[in-house]
Amino acid sequence: MLEKIKMIKFLDLQKITEKYTAEIHEAVSRVVDSGWYLQGQENEHFEKNYAKYIGSEFCIGVANGLDALRLILKAYIELGVMKEGDEIIVPANTFIASILAITDNRLVPVLVEPRLDNYQIDDELIEASITERTRGIMIVHLYGQCAFTDKIGDICSKYNLKLIEDNAQAHGCKYKGRKTGSIGDAAGHSFYPGKNLGAFGDAGAVTTNDKELAETIRSLANYGSARKYVFQYQGLNSRLDEIQAAILNVKLKYLDEDTQKRKDVATYYIENIKHPDIILPIVEDWDAHVFHLFPILTPKRDKLQEYLKENGVQTLIHYPIPPHKQQAYQDWNGLSFPITEKIHAQELSLPMSPIINPFDIAEVCQLINNYQVL
Ligand SMILES: *Cc1c(COP(=O)(O)O)cnc(C)c1O
Repeated sequence: MLEKIKMIKFLDLQKITEKYTAEIHEAVSRVVDSGWYLQGQENEHFEKNYAKYIGSEFCIGVANGLDALRLILKAYIELGVMKEGDEIIVPANTFIASILAITDNRLVPVLVEPRLDNYQIDDELIEASITERTRGIMIVHLYGQCAFTDKIGDICSKYNLKLIEDNAQAHGCKYKGRKTGSIGDAAGHSFYPGKNLGAFGDAGAVTTNDKELAETIRSLANYGSARKYVFQYQGLNSRLDEIQAAILNVKLKYLDEDTQKRKDVATYYIENIKHPDIILPIVEDWDAHVFHLFPILTPKRDKLQEYLKENGVQTLIHYPIPPHKQQAYQDWNGLSFPITEKIHAQELSLPMSPIINPFDIAEVCQLINNYQVL
């Protein structure tokens, strides 16, 4: 008899969806039957629900997370707060989308190294990067961990900088009782299927307490129009569709429960992985990490990944090439960011999701503990 070949998946979206199948079918059918597919009730409900969840006054549903960030900056330009050539500070080790949002608006990203202990922007290094052209700081709650610190808040006040949060990976994360996405002046959220709150395609949102900014973004995302056929800005088309909004309304109800399961997986990993060559994530405050990913650092990363793959465990690297080494940003290729480069060379993300079964997590831990470094 053939033995079943088992694979521990990095993220099993099909299995995640199973939990909500009935409710999602009902929600999608409701939209299909309604004959109304954009800018309708589902979107309105989701915006209201998500704003409440995050603790922001306004939420604008948009087409994806990159657009959410692009639109925030574009709105600041329309409002005269920023202009072409102004600088935005951003962590050097972020996912490329944070940086694309800046350069797409002809603003200049100023890359700042992260801390090696928690992979978040190093607040000790920010002030040295501020010039008279600096207009904002985009913090990225990378891997699901809060990047905000009181020091960052103080720097923003001192230099009159806008604080923009890239909350694509951190829905539900909290800093001293406040959700990330409600701390800065505005936040971009992604609901890409693999994110903690994931749609069935692309989706995103902006949250803010700034009414003028919210109105500008809503208009910019709708061709620059707040009134039909009247165009105030040269906008774009970036809207959250009714089917995605309906699905997100279902999944949002379970987000906190799912986040707790991610934390349980993380706790198990942290308590059970014991290997001299592996650095585990540090968690000082369990409210401030929603474990979008479970990143470890290890010097012979590629070998460990290969070993785990041979033993049926799927892992991913977040991310293999840092932004400043990408062809898309050739001018930066000669720059050196040693901490960023070290993270990119050593990071490995272990299987993480709300539905991964305890035996599989135990197996991953055991495999890692038995791993002999060659
Ligand atoms: C996913 C992600 C984005 C972009 O979101 P999309 O919805 O894929 O456009 C932006 N920033 C970070 C940190 C992300 O992880």
